[in-house]
Amino acid sequence: MKMYDTPQPVERYLNVELECDCGRVHYAPIKAINISKGALESLPGYVAEYGYKKPYILCDRITYEIAGKRCEELLKSAGFQPVVLIIRHLGFDEATLGEIVLNKPDDCDLMIGVGTGSITDMLRFSSFKLGLPCFTVATGAPMDGFSASVGIMNVNNLKATMPAHSTEVIIGDTDVLKSAPYRMTIAGFADLVAKLNALNDWHLGVLITGDHYCKKIDELVKAYVNDILGKAEAIKARDPKAIGDVMNALLLTGASISLYGSSRPISGAEHHMSHYWEVLGEQRGKPFAMHGEQVAVGTVMALSVVEELSRLQPDFQKAREAAKQFDYAAWETNIRRTYGNASDAIIDLEKSSGKNDPVLWLKRLDVIEENWAEIRKMLNSVYPAQKLRALLKDLGCPCDPKDIGITESVLKDTFMVCKETRARYTVYQLACDLGVMDVISDKIIAGLKQQNAV
Ligand SMILES: [Zn+2]
Ligand SMILES: [Zn+2]
Repeated sequence: MKMYDTPQPVERYLNVELECDCGRVHYAPIKAINISKGALESLPGYVAEYGYKKPYILCDRITYEIAGKRCEELLKSAGFQPVVLIIRHLGFDEATLGEIVLNKPDDCDLMIGVGTGSITDMLRFSSFKLGLPCFTVATGAPMDGFSASVGIMNVNNLKATMPAHSTEVIIGDTDVLKSAPYRMTIAGFADLVAKLNALNDWHLGVLITGDHYCKKIDELVKAYVNDILGKAEAIKARDPKAIGDVMNALLLTGASISLYGSSRPISGAEHHMSHYWEVLGEQRGKPFAMHGEQVAVGTVMALSVVEELSRLQPDFQKAREAAKQFDYAAWETNIRRTYGNASDAIIDLEKSSGKNDPVLWLKRLDVIEENWAEIRKMLNSVYPAQKLRALLKDLGCPCDPKDIGITESVLKDTFMVCKETRARYTVYQLACDLGVMDVISDKIIAGLKQQNAV
């Protein structure tokens, strides 16, 4: 089938191969999504319809009470004998994986995750490793990982994106979702508006490093994000319909990872900030905030860098000198200082990607100089940082570094090194390529200090 010309409801992208002008076939291997009032009741029907006999349910103590218990009851009354694991190793790391494998019944043929981010990430990865299909029952909508084809877990103390598979069925009962903490819904909203920066980062990557581009996916993600931006008031009023819309938009943006083949359209510098804070959170044994909240702050920061760059008159000669003088040893020392026990993975990534290789850097500078007028135009058309900050503030979502406990020195390090977590072109890489990240980040931090926001 041909890829649709205009954005469609999320269901129309599921389990169908869509041939696109961009040269790719877009495919999201999800069989069904049911976001509705009373959707939990449909679980046994899906299990039976797809021919499964022995479900293995993963949840934690809290999600068991919220929906896991009900899933267990519904499956039992439909004649299934589900086995429930209430996960105790909540580091979502090697130990959690071990617990899941140890408790898996030999005859189980389906895994069902009941929860939000971490549980469903662990579900997609562990079921993939065990060669079993999986279903997701969402208890809140704090991020867009539900429909992803990858799974995030902690490996060697670093958040790692693991190969996984998509969940076959996603159930979101609006009666359950509406009673999820408001904070969670707002975090989900923030993970959506983060795409305002992520899409711009993608455009930069297309222009500067020749990344692949798909106009239809771009427009699709943009349409869902714009729609949800217009529903901020209804979300604030905790309208169940609007909360269902947030969930649906998160499922679409998450599914676009499968559709597109990578998270390129939906994750940029704002997510790199969040990844870096996750590393630090892991090391101090306590996360700074929920994923979506970190991404909210990250998006305001990334859009601030966009604005600074849009006003810049780059000195390309100076930038070229900086590229030629790149000091790998000093870079590595700084990575060891800032990433601590997660630095090996960052250094390995640099070895394989050569992000800071002066030859590639100089090549990028040639492209940037040649296309500066167009780049500036792109930067000028991005959503204004202060407008987004005001919107998030009004909703009660963290928007300043201070709101999530990020100090001035941590913020400075984040601006300087967070781009090293991924080999992906973003506005931060652009600022670094131009040799202005140090000056720009100082200026942004000074502004934040004046507002008592860091
Ligand atoms: Zn996210
Ligand atoms: Zn395409």
